Amino acid sequence: MTDGIGSKEDRSLARAARNEVTFRNANQEIERRRADLEVEGATPFICECEEESCNTLVFLNQDEYAGAREKPNWFVLAPGHKFSSGTILSGNDRFVVVDKHGLAKEIAEREAT
Ligand SMILES: [Zn+2]
Repeated sequence: MTDGIGSKEDRSLARAARNEVTFRNANQEIERRRADLEVEGATPFICECEEESCNTLVFLNQDEYAGAREKPNWFVLAPGHKFSSGTILSGNDRFVVVDKHGLAKEIAEREAT
């Protein structure tokens, strides 16, 4: 009997996914403040890739960010950055939106704020 996060590979995938969720939650806070301050135009968000040391900023305007937050398992990354299982939904030269699958999706949906 396995709970699905038993293997070493799955644990490292789970860690990567949690890292992505942490950045995602930080970005939600940035968006709340942006709304409070009524800042117009593109705002810097933190890349939500699986690399813990990544501190790349991605710039999205309000509509782009709202679109990227439509589902709890959608993440905003700098173009070319690594992510655990998923597919790129859309993107441009500033950012890509990734639809996460499998365990990464489960964790994202469970831990989303
Ligand atoms: Zn990154």
